[in-house]
Amino acid sequence: MIVFGGTFDPVHHGHLQGARHVSETLGGTTVVLMPAPVPQLRNAPEASFEHRWQMSQLACEQEECLVASCFENQRKGPTRTVETLQALSSESDGKLVWVLGSDAFSNISNWYRFEELPSVASLFVLVRPFAKQSCIPTGFMQVYEAPRLLERPGLVYVSRTKMLNVSATIIRVGIRNGDDVSQMLPQEILEHIMQHRLYQS
Ligand code: ATP
Repeated sequence: MIVFGGTFDPVHHGHLQGARHVSETLGGTTVVLMPAPVPQLRNAPEASFEHRWQMSQLACEQEECLVASCFENQRKGPTRTVETLQALSSESDGKLVWVLGSDAFSNISNWYRFEELPSVASLFVLVRPFAKQSCIPTGFMQVYEAPRLLERPGLVYVSRTKMLNVSATIIRVGIRNGDDVSQMLPQEILEHIMQHRLYQS
């Protein structure tokens, strides 16, 4: 199972290009987009989980390689990636890959019970523009062919493909300022934002 977790406040073309790239690189596998209800180590999301979930579903309708999952919303309390992965590992036949951007990757050793991660999942790292190179965290081993991630947990593949310079922060600030952000996210998601007046104040 290939899981792309995040706040998705809102989903944008950077996430979608990244998910397509992961799917293509792993031979056309489906990528599961999984919004976190109560993400940690960052500011609280501006949009409710319900809105972020609806926007995630809208994004997946447009992308053949993507499905949305509200799995993390079934759990109470703060969203902890290690607990999500441990809960998913029984369903995934030991082939669990967590997709994350290089900004999240560079902070991974601060994640809750980080030292348990290498025994449950491998990592596919998407390199965002202006990212500094990060070390491979303790317990993980770097591989240079993405499909090897499906061999066992504890492997890391750092993609050499540059991702789009788009972030949810730029979009939220842009909407607040009345800027045109239509090139950064799918039309259906922008319509959802406008219809529900998200990120306006
Ligand atoms: P914010 O600006 O609110 O922090 P974000 O744009 O970084 O949001 P998140 O929902 O926090 O989006 O990110 C979910 C995951 O997607 C993270 O692992 C993040 O690194 C990754 N990601 C976000 N934007 C991009 C991008 N443009 N290219 C590749 N990966 C991305």
